[in-house]
Amino acid sequence: MERILGDEKSSGIRRIQKIIQPRLSFAIKTIDRVDGDSVTLEGGVVLKSGKLAWVLECCRLAVCFVATIGPGVEREISRLSQEGCLTDEYLLDRIGSLAVEAVVDDFQREMGERYGGANGGTTLRFSPGYCDWPIMEQRKIFSLVDSRRAGVRLTPSLLMVPRKSISGVFGIIEEGRPTWRAFRNPCLQCDRRSCPERREPRFSPSAGSVRKRRAGARGDG
Ligand code: SF4
Repeated sequence: MERILGDEKSSGIRRIQKIIQPRLSFAIKTIDRVDGDSVTLEGGVVLKSGKLAWVLECCRLAVCFVATIGPGVEREISRLSQEGCLTDEYLLDRIGSLAVEAVVDDFQREMGERYGGANGGTTLRFSPGYCDWPIMEQRKIFSLVDSRRAGVRLTPSLLMVPRKSISGVFGIIEEGRPTWRAFRNPCLQCDRRSCPERREPRFSPSAGSVRKRRAGARGDG
């Protein structure tokens, strides 16, 4: 890790900060229709995922986005790889992944505060290829967002360049909407127990009490 962070922590952090260059582009779309396995956005783009449809069912607005931390981390990872510094390469790769997730987390929080109001927020976010949403739908997100503004392009095989980028969608939960219907997590009802993307344990009596406690903490009725 010394090769990344340098001898002093502060100079290492400065070095990483220098190569992380967050950029993000987004589009807010009205949700025209939600049925069992798809979501139709204004303009007629249809996102085909039953789980996304279930999560967005109570929302009026969807936020589509493309975010990146730029190519700097990738270049550094490649340099470390060429020099055979595998541990440093691995650690920087993890830092890059966490950094781009943090960029989107901050953005999502800001959008929830701006458009959801005091008692609103956002749904879980989904990316193409995640859960039951086919990776091919990546093109639809890129058709809705000005990805050039974020500095991200899509290859014919649907990979994003720079690699440390995230695309996806989440819904806005507006103040006044019944939150017990709005904050939905499909993992609670999903049988794919070994899914690596699972965000909650499957519903069970013990998980149910956890969910109840959380609902109580949010003031759901
Ligand atoms: S466990 Fe969750 S993330 Fe995985 S497929 Fe099921 S609903 Fe989707």
